[in-house]
Amino acid sequence: MYQKPKGTRDIFGDELKRLETMNAVARSFFGQQGYQEIRTPTFEFATLFDRSIGETTDIVEHEIYKFEVNRKWYALKPEGTAPVLRAFIENKLSLPARFLYICSMYRRERPQKGRYREFLQIGIELLGESEAFYDAEIIDQGKRYLDLIGAKGFNIELNSIGCPECRRAYRERLGTYLEPNISKLCADCRRRFEHNFLRIFDCKKETCHKVYDKAPKITDNLCKDCAAHYDGVKMYLRKYGIEYAENKKLVRGLDYYTRTVFEFKHRGLGAQDTIIAGGRYDLLMKELGGPNTPCTGWAMGPERLLLTMPKEVPHIDKEVTFYVVGMGERYMDEIIRLRNDIQARGHVCISGNPDAPLKQQIKKADKVGTAYTVIYGEDEEKEGVYAVKEMKTGKQTKIQREDFKAFIERI
Ligand code: ATP
Ligand code: MG
Repeated sequence: MYQKPKGTRDIFGDELKRLETMNAVARSFFGQQGYQEIRTPTFEFATLFDRSIGETTDIVEHEIYKFEVNRKWYALKPEGTAPVLRAFIENKLSLPARFLYICSMYRRERPQKGRYREFLQIGIELLGESEAFYDAEIIDQGKRYLDLIGAKGFNIELNSIGCPECRRAYRERLGTYLEPNISKLCADCRRRFEHNFLRIFDCKKETCHKVYDKAPKITDNLCKDCAAHYDGVKMYLRKYGIEYAENKKLVRGLDYYTRTVFEFKHRGLGAQDTIIAGGRYDLLMKELGGPNTPCTGWAMGPERLLLTMPKEVPHIDKEVTFYVVGMGERYMDEIIRLRNDIQARGHVCISGNPDAPLKQQIKKADKVGTAYTVIYGEDEEKEGVYAVKEMKTGKQTKIQREDFKAFIERI
């Protein structure tokens, strides 16, 4: 017996249908907002992620699937932003640009509910806009998307992590505060403080957070421009009527974020509660060799989102509506024509094998849960009708062949 690798999933049935609905709604909704879909490769040169995400982040240190072929290192993509920017630069696309991606991502994480090693992300990136207005706009778009899909129970958390200039001065202050407390921190945090100091706030350990609760926060140490930008984001969010909570300890796992960071968290999910995470990344395009370009965006985990949604959320309904059965091989042509006609009118239709015993065909029709079974044999041929059985009631009626198209259209 073969088994799938740890952290991967087979997705089918109801879940797959609902994920496809989320994708379809995302394509149409973000399409209306001017986003163009983009699909980047499943793997890239590994240096793209080392460079963009940062070498001392969880992702690059532990989570990337890397492999070497002919002395070149590749990586399965762990996130969508760096590839989109790489594609933007490489294809010489023009600014401002809005991109939507719907792709699988790969991270070697400890698998648990809502955390997988291959998972889907729906993400948007807005390139070339620096104003606070746009930070608020993409948050509003995330919220409207969730509303559209029927998701409920979210809190939006917001923070600003400033620019390198604010961080230089702030790092000193934080260092002074942490120095006498350093023995209370976990080994990871001590290391993080050396390489990627803002990420200490990302630590999941309570003992560390006891120290951080009283620490000076980046939000209170922004330079004038960053502070004004942050005030702007909050002002526009209020204009949009969006409720949010400021969380001064909110930082992002990726290195390239500047200024605005935000998360949409679900109130009932437990540990894996972040559904949308994003922010501004004004420095990444330059870092990757492109033009100096302010950017903002977010990524969502639709599989996690699905965990928050009640069963009755609608999906694109593709239940079997018709099952056509024939009584004998000589009705094959008619059965196929009938099946194609029904399918052409947008219904799901399966045909039995007319050569198999009628009873067996009907049994199969019942098993797939068809709404109607259409029967065609010698009697029907003589009378110029189709026998149609409504499976729910068991009622069977005869419908004149020439009236049948009208009948399908009424369903
Ligand atoms: P977390 O703190 O949950 O690890 P992250 O900071 O790694 O999140 P991002 O890289 O910002 O998350 O990814 C954005 C979104 O993608 C997350 O909010 C989540 O919905 C989804 N996501 C991230 N990692 C996974 C995973 N391993 N399995 C399923 N969904 C994921
Ligand atoms: Mg993670």
